[in-house]
Amino acid sequence: MPRLALALILSVFGFLPGHASAQATAPTAVYDGEVNHYRVRIDAQARRAEVDADLWLGGDLLSMFNVMPVPGLPNGQADLIEQLQVRDAQGRLLPSEDLGAGDFKLQGGRRIKAHYFVRLDHDRYAWPAGMEEVSYHTDEGLMVTGATLFLADGGDSMQGPITVEMKLPEGWLAQTPWMHDGASNRFQVFSRRELLSNALFLGTADAETFDVGGVKLTLVLGKRYVPSKALFLDLLRTQLASYQELFGGRPLERRYLIIINNGASGDGGAFAASFSQFINGDADARNRVIWGYVMAHELLHFWNGLSFAPADTREEWFKEGATDYLTIATLARNGLIDETLLFKRLENVPRRYLIARMAQGLNMSVRDAGKDKQPNRQLVYGGGSLAAMALDVELRVRSHDRVGLPDLMKRLYADYPLPDKRYKLEDIARIARQLTGEDFQPFLANAVESTGYFDILPTYKDLGLRMDSFVEEMFISREPGTTAEQKARFDAIFAPAR
Ligand SMILES: [Zn+2]
Repeated sequence: MPRLALALILSVFGFLPGHASAQATAPTAVYDGEVNHYRVRIDAQARRAEVDADLWLGGDLLSMFNVMPVPGLPNGQADLIEQLQVRDAQGRLLPSEDLGAGDFKLQGGRRIKAHYFVRLDHDRYAWPAGMEEVSYHTDEGLMVTGATLFLADGGDSMQGPITVEMKLPEGWLAQTPWMHDGASNRFQVFSRRELLSNALFLGTADAETFDVGGVKLTLVLGKRYVPSKALFLDLLRTQLASYQELFGGRPLERRYLIIINNGASGDGGAFAASFSQFINGDADARNRVIWGYVMAHELLHFWNGLSFAPADTREEWFKEGATDYLTIATLARNGLIDETLLFKRLENVPRRYLIARMAQGLNMSVRDAGKDKQPNRQLVYGGGSLAAMALDVELRVRSHDRVGLPDLMKRLYADYPLPDKRYKLEDIARIARQLTGEDFQPFLANAVESTGYFDILPTYKDLGLRMDSFVEEMFISREPGTTAEQKARFDAIFAPAR
């Protein structure tokens, strides 16, 4: 069950620091036109990172973003910063005040030189979204996200180009989604978001770059997974091709990094141009139903969530739910799951929703569940994918199978490009109306704004399927008396393309 979690929430919702309200004084000085440069030195044991940052600080906040408090670290990742010293361009020490939650207040509107250490102990703590979204060690190196290492301008954006230079232990290489800047461990980074919302791997792990449909994909594999490389590549190529067709274009980014290592959770997290995935044990064709699903889900976020995104957390259901549902549909169409596994997936969707509503007692609407995504994940993902599937089928039924969810996704992708635009529920309803000539507001209100129990049986019926259930036991089968329209609709969504 992939969870995109805070990594994406923060990248999508603009990386607000903990104390955005603390930005009191407006910058009076004019940006000096120089490069923002970070130099990172990782010690031989990879226990400590030493960072020198030469930055233009527009406002009064120097911030570590994406911090999450965990037991033992009330200020989250920021509590692993040591010996922070900030100087002005002339080398004079600037006093800074620790506001907590990763924010340091100091006199900005000038160039600063920050020096600090980050203790690389992140894998000793229990992160709400998992350490695969923060940092962890393997015997081949270190996975670390940009937000875990870099303090940056805590204001609305960072002015000027950004370069990063890594000094690594002997024999290590930096694998990043950034552009190389001449030397092997030097990079150009195009925005603060690219700097912070990405997973990096520093070390000796196998890394290979592939050109897949105009996207440069670098696959970093822990050694246990090198024998499975062809299996991963097959899935990545196949799914990437389906998504390009589904959304009608390439994703926002042109370079992607995928990092795979062994981890019990089997979970993953997507960032601006990278994702970090754990697989529990070896990866083979048989357990592809698990790891392939996580991989395909995170890959789909390169469009839904990272090329276009909702205005706020109320549409988390759509970002996660449509991603989950379309992951299932495309895996089936590509023959990566057979009908038996497809039906199991289609049984799991309403089961997650039932668990959320009945066992967890989550009685808010599916939209409202997005506000607190991790605790409410069964409702966000389960209720969200149920709603996305019902929306797809409803679009098809009302348009006499002329349009479906892929047409709506194409419009969102074309009309709401990040970083300039973001969509709302009204936009989904409006596009659905434009596509079908029908009012979808009542449908959406019932599916995601209601606190009642959404009935999915009519959706399955319209697909020529029936679901027999007893509490949490769900059994999907083909309805013998299905009509030709229902059969064709099922085939259009799920049948392997021949
Ligand atoms: Zn996700």
